[in-house]
Amino acid sequence: MLDLVVIGAGPAGITAALYAGRSKLKTKVFEKLGVGGQLLLTEHIENYPGIYQMKSNDWIDIAKKQLVELKSVELAEDIKVESIECKDGFFNVFFSSQSQSLKQSVETRSVIVASGAQPKRLNLVNEVALTGRGVSYCATCDGPFFKDKEVVVIGGGDTAIEEALYLTRFAKKVTIVHRREELRATAILKEKATSNEKIAFKWESLPVEIIGSKKVEGLKIENVKTAGNETIPCDGVFIFVGFVPDTDFLKNLTDLDKDGYVLTDEEMMSSCDGLFACGDCRKRALKQVVTACGEGALAEYHVEKFLQNKI
Ligand code: NAP
Repeated sequence: MLDLVVIGAGPAGITAALYAGRSKLKTKVFEKLGVGGQLLLTEHIENYPGIYQMKSNDWIDIAKKQLVELKSVELAEDIKVESIECKDGFFNVFFSSQSQSLKQSVETRSVIVASGAQPKRLNLVNEVALTGRGVSYCATCDGPFFKDKEVVVIGGGDTAIEEALYLTRFAKKVTIVHRREELRATAILKEKATSNEKIAFKWESLPVEIIGSKKVEGLKIENVKTAGNETIPCDGVFIFVGFVPDTDFLKNLTDLDKDGYVLTDEEMMSSCDGLFACGDCRKRALKQVVTACGEGALAEYHVEKFLQNKI
C-alpha cells in the first residue's frame, strides 16, 4: 500500500512529489509522457522569482534529478492513468503503459491529481487533416520547420503571444489573428509583440477554414463586425486558444466544473476525501509555473495532515 500516488509530472506534480519524498511518504508518480508537462512546449522561464531566465529543459533536468534522488519516490514515465476507484477510504489506481500492453493497478491511501491540460482544438475545416502538415499547437517543437516562411498564430493570450514571438526567430512573417481588438496577454508581452517588425495583426477576426490539401496553404478568416472574408496565404497555422484539462479519468469520482477542471477547497482537497488536485487541471485563475509549484507544495502538505488524521 502506497501513501501517495501523484498523477502528472509537470511543475505541480514534481513539487508535490518532491515534498512527499522529503517527508518520506511512500510515493509513486505516474507521468503519461515525460517529466515537464507543458514546460516541454515552451522554450524558457522568465517570470519565476530568483531565476533571471532559464531554459525550460534545464529546469526540467534539475527537477527530475531532485525527484529521482529521493528514496521513497518512484517515477514511472510513459504510464497513463485510466481510472481510479475509491473503496473503504483507499484508492485503486488503474494504469496502462503506452509502449507496452500493460494494465495494472496500485493501492494507495491518497492521490494528488496534477495531470495538467492539453491545447484546445478549434475544429476548423482541415484542422485534423493538416495537423503535422503545417497545423501545430507547439512553436517550440515545430518553429524551426518554418524558416523564412509565413505563419499565422490564432489567439490573443499569453501562450499565443509568447509563441508568436518565438516564431519570429524562424518565420519571415507572423500574423496574429485575434477575435477582439485587445490582446488578453500581459502588458509586457503585448509590448514585445506590437514592437516586433515581423509581427502583423488581424484584429476582430475569426478563423473559418484552413486552406490546403497536402499541406497548409492559407487561413480563411472572417471579420466579426463586417462578416467580410479574406484568406491569409501562409505555410503554417499555430493554434493557441487555451487548454482543456486532462481529467477524463476522474469522471464519476469527484466534482469537476463544466469544462472538466477539478473543484477543490482551499486545502486542494477535491469532493472525494483523500483525493487532492493542483496545477492546471484544478479550477483556478492564474496558470503559471510559480502557482503550479506553490499548489503542489500545498497539496502535499495537506495530504500529510490528511494521512495523520486517518491513522
Ligand atoms: P487563454 O488565456 O485562455 O487565452 C486564449 C486566447 O484564445 C484568448 O485570446 C481567446 O480570445 C482566444 N480564443 C479562445 N477561444 C477561441 C476561439 N474559439 N476562437 C478564436 N480565439 C479563441 O489561454 P493561454 O494563452 O493558453 O493561457 C492559459 C493560461 O496560461 C493563462 O492563465 C495564461 O496567463 C497562462 N500562461 C502564462 C504564461 C506566462 O506566464 N509566461 C505563458 C503562457 C500561458 P479572448 O481573449 O477574446 O477570450
